[in-house]
Amino acid sequence: MNREKAKLMQMEVCKTAQEMYHSGLVAGTWGNISARVDEDYMVITPSGMDYERLCPDDMVIVNMNTLEYEGNLKPSIETVVHSAVYKDRPEVNGIVHTHSTYALTVATARKEIPPICDDQVQILGGSVRLAGYTMPGTKEMAKEVIRALKERAGALIANHGAITVGRTLAEAYTGSVVLEKTAKIYINCQSIGGAVEISQADIDFFHDFFMNKYGQR
Ligand SMILES: [Zn+2]
Repeated sequence: MNREKAKLMQMEVCKTAQEMYHSGLVAGTWGNISARVDEDYMVITPSGMDYERLCPDDMVIVNMNTLEYEGNLKPSIETVVHSAVYKDRPEVNGIVHTHSTYALTVATARKEIPPICDDQVQILGGSVRLAGYTMPGTKEMAKEVIRALKERAGALIANHGAITVGRTLAEAYTGSVVLEKTAKIYINCQSIGGAVEISQADIDFFHDFFMNKYGQR
């Protein structure tokens, strides 16, 4: 393992966890976030700790093959899901999982979010699918999440929350903010006759622009 990169990822995960805490995205309940170090290792937030008191060294380094970890703090209970997603998606380097209110509302109604907002289709790649109901932190949940995330950067998890992925942790975090906003818009639209969906041609155009042409890459 590249120690220097692991240290950098511990700092980034800690910084993003605090940003998320102050944004209100995780208000009240827990979420967890992680970043890939390399093919075999990731860094993830510890289980059940006060976000405000976290420091970079508290971010747990986990071997994704064995799920063994370093240090005194236990990794998040959802480590199984994170490591399975990294194994399935080599291009993914960051994951954000939340129990945010609006995403959880749609997930609890066990509905998907159709493609309705331009930033949703740009960043998340289209509709937001629903991973079926399973026990948190199990292989079954990992399997359902991987299915729902196929060719997407975000998914809902039935009666549980939401998950977003990105080429960087910053991208996954932006995705989680966009997913929560989209869920809110989707719910609001129900009261004025329902949202109108964006066409597949426009989804393809928007998403391709984001993945290949946007920014300084
Ligand atoms: Zn969770």
